[in-house]
Amino acid sequence: MTLPAGTMREAVIDTEAIADNVRAFRRRTGVDVIAVVKADGYGHGAVRAAQGALDGGATRLGVVDVDEALALRRGGIDAPLMAWLHAPGLSFGRAVEAHIELGISDLDQLNRAAAAATGDRPARLHLKVETGLARNGIPPEAQRSVFAEAARLERIGRVHVVGIFSHLSNTSPDDDRDAIARFDESLAVAAASGLTPRVRHLAATQAAIDLPESRYDAVRIGLGIYGLSPFSYRSPAELGLRPAMTLRAAIAAVRRVPAGHGVSYGYTYRTDRETTLALVPLGYADGVPRQASGVGPVVIGDRRFPVAGRIAMDQFVVDVGDHPVAVGDEAVLFGDPTYGAPLADDWAQAAGTINYEVVTRIGPRVPRRTATR
Ligand SMILES: *Cc1c(COP(=O)(O)O)cnc(C)c1O
Repeated sequence: MTLPAGTMREAVIDTEAIADNVRAFRRRTGVDVIAVVKADGYGHGAVRAAQGALDGGATRLGVVDVDEALALRRGGIDAPLMAWLHAPGLSFGRAVEAHIELGISDLDQLNRAAAAATGDRPARLHLKVETGLARNGIPPEAQRSVFAEAARLERIGRVHVVGIFSHLSNTSPDDDRDAIARFDESLAVAAASGLTPRVRHLAATQAAIDLPESRYDAVRIGLGIYGLSPFSYRSPAELGLRPAMTLRAAIAAVRRVPAGHGVSYGYTYRTDRETTLALVPLGYADGVPRQASGVGPVVIGDRRFPVAGRIAMDQFVVDVGDHPVAVGDEAVLFGDPTYGAPLADDWAQAAGTINYEVVTRIGPRVPRRTATR
C-alpha cells in the first residue's frame, strides 16, 4: 500500500465504521445513541464523525461547548445537538438561535438560557445533576429550587426541559450504582417539581456496555463510536466495534548503516548489526507521544517494528533490519487490527496513557481524509 502521491502523512477516517459502531451500540443497548463528537470528533473531524454517526442512526449529537456546536451547524449538521460546558457569563443567544440544546449546571446558566429565548423559541435544556464525579452539575441540595425555577420558566414558555443527565466516574460497578441511585433521586425531585424530561441520560461508552441499569432513554457514546474500547482487557473486535482512524505516513528516507550507529537525539538506540533505517515523518508535534520513544509500534510491509530511539518533533526512525523497505512505502502507526495495524491502545500503553488521548491529540498538521471504498 502507498499513500496518495505527494501525501507525507494522513489520518484516514472510515465514516462507515463510525456508522456501524453506532448501530452496534443501538443493538446492544436498545436505547437511543447520543453521539459525542467533541474535541473535533475525538480527532476524527467533527462534521465527518457527526455525519457517520447520524448515518448509523444516532438521534442526537453531543459536544462540550457552544463554539463546537456552532461549527457543526456551519458544517451543515442540523440534527439535535447539545453542549454542556460553558464559559462563565457566556450569552446563549447564538446557541438558541442555532437550535443548540444546552446542558445546564446551575441557576445562573438557567437564567441566562431563559434570557436567550425569543418569542416563539424557548431555550432547549438538559439539566445536569451532580451524582459524584465532582465536576459540574446541580448538587442535590440545590435541585429542589433550581428545578422549581426551571418548571416555572417552562410554564411561561422561556425554556423547554428536554433532558436530565449526569456523568459516571467508572470507578467500580458499585460506585456507578451509587451514582445511579443519586440520579434516580434527582429524577424523582424533577418529577415532583413538575418537570417531564423526555431524555434521561447517564451512561457513556463504558457503562453503556457493562451496566445495563445505567442506560435510561439514551447513552452518550464517544470512544465507542470511533471503534475503540474503554477496557484494557477487551479489544474493539470483542465488543463488535471497528476502529475508524488509521494513522499512517510515507517513509521519507531509507539508509543502510553499519553496526554501532547511533539513532536520533541522544543516541538512546544504537544499531547492533548492519541494518536499514527508515524515517517516518510523524512526530510529537503531530501527536505521536514522545513518551512512546523506543517502544511505539509501526507496521511497514506486514511487519511490526518498534520506534528506534527518540521520537522528535516531526519524525522518528525505525530499524527494519534486512526487510526490504523503499522511500514512499507506507508506515502504519495504528488503525484496525483486522488489516494488520496496531491499535491506538498499543501507543497508549507505550506512552503510559489511554487511547482517548492518543486519537484526540493527533495534530492539525495531519490531514484527515475520509476513506473511499
Ligand atoms: C466525553 C463525554 C462523554 C463520552 O465519553 P466516552 O467515554 O468517550 O463514551 C459522555 N458524556 C460526557 C458528559 C462527556 O464529557
